[in-house]
Amino acid sequence: MTAVVAMADAVRTFDCSKSHAAEDRTLSLAKASVVEKHLQKRCRLLFRRPRNLSWVGGIPILPNLLIPVESAAGETRVAASPETVKKFTALGCRVVLEQGAGLASGYLDETYSECGAELVPVADASAWSQADALLCVQSPTADALGRLRSGALLVGLLAPYANSELDGALKRCGLSAMALELLPRISRAQSADALSSQANIAGYKSVLLASAALDRYFPMLMTAAGTVQPARVVVLGAGVAGLQAVATARRLGAVVYVSDIRPAVKEQVESLGARFIDPPEMEDKPAESGGYAKQASDAFLAAQRQQLSDQLAEADVAICTAQVPGRRAPRLISEDMLDRMRPGSVVVDLAVAQGGNCADTVPSETVDRNGVKLIGANDLPCTVPNHASALYARNLLALLQPTLSDGQLTLDTEDELIAGCLISQDGTIRRSDVLTPGAN
Ligand code: NAD
Repeated sequence: MTAVVAMADAVRTFDCSKSHAAEDRTLSLAKASVVEKHLQKRCRLLFRRPRNLSWVGGIPILPNLLIPVESAAGETRVAASPETVKKFTALGCRVVLEQGAGLASGYLDETYSECGAELVPVADASAWSQADALLCVQSPTADALGRLRSGALLVGLLAPYANSELDGALKRCGLSAMALELLPRISRAQSADALSSQANIAGYKSVLLASAALDRYFPMLMTAAGTVQPARVVVLGAGVAGLQAVATARRLGAVVYVSDIRPAVKEQVESLGARFIDPPEMEDKPAESGGYAKQASDAFLAAQRQQLSDQLAEADVAICTAQVPGRRAPRLISEDMLDRMRPGSVVVDLAVAQGGNCADTVPSETVDRNGVKLIGANDLPCTVPNHASALYARNLLALLQPTLSDGQLTLDTEDELIAGCLISQDGTIRRSDVLTPGAN
């Protein structure tokens, strides 16, 4: 919308500067207003008030936002906090929240009520069918999505990559959907970047888990009984989670080594007091796009494993955070490398749900492999639910606030931020390259 108004303003300024005659100016302003109206109409394709909702006393009823109890196993987060409910209601939205939605995050129904939310029983058919937008952490089941009215908007971490079930449900139910995983990594999107807010938590908690499971201290200590050497931590992948893991391990006093294939992160790693392991010198180095690493070749990964093998043999802890969006996580620790790690050492694999950076890790489980503890850490943000929900809820508010005005939720499909993550519009899939890659 900003672009639309700016364009109309530009037409206005341009035309006005061409002529000083009053009639010319009037004509130009009329022209600008037509352009503005035309462009606004084009961009406001979505979320006109459905016919079954009325207008009261000339004041538009702003969108109904529904916050469900999360249904995915082990999910403790919630998509709205009392703080964001208050802000959405101040913007004129009606916020409907399923009873108990915030309980696992430490937010009581009464607190939500005081902040302006309307509480409804779980799976209340009329609340779902009247919702204009459903704000979730993870997607409800395909069956539950069938309770929403056609044209409603689903917003959350929808796990869109090769998700044919979601693809089918969005088409069948005629839904629009925004997958936060696909939000472009541009500065304007930072406050809405849920991947970052949650990865930060995961990176921090991974180090705490490792230190609790390790049979040694993290810091160097000089005691009456002698000196204790600091723990040696290897962090694989220096994205958001990896850099937070580095910072946390450094604060606990460990010596930290970091491997990443993007040379740009070397400076960031060193500024946190860690040592960077330069990627193998090979011709077919993986490329980089939009700050993300591209998939590495098998030969490159083999050379990288070779290089890391000696590092890991001396390590007390390995924190695995290396990922390539939409792809299987790179396998960086093989069985042979685990054989060389000392009993008592710990591996925390944050990439376990994407296939794992480390051999033998299992989601949500700790495996004891010849004394090496392998922690499958796929759900760490859920172990810090109060802050994870508070930050996630703010991400959603930051994403939606600019879309709420003039009595409607308006999505500008020409805005790169919206266009990047809007995977479906009224049941028409816009990102089949993500949802069903290779289908066409
Ligand atoms: P990610 O979770 O996709 O990947 C984590 C890290 O794994 C990345 O640093 C990647 O280079 C690394 N990796 C991939 N293959 C590897 C391999 N074989 N060996 C070692 N490391 C490997 O990434 P992320 O944490 O979501 O962030 C990626 C980038 O985006 C970072 O540079 C981050 O600073 C940037 N970012 C930008 C914004 C913004 O500008 N709005 C917001 C968040 C993140």
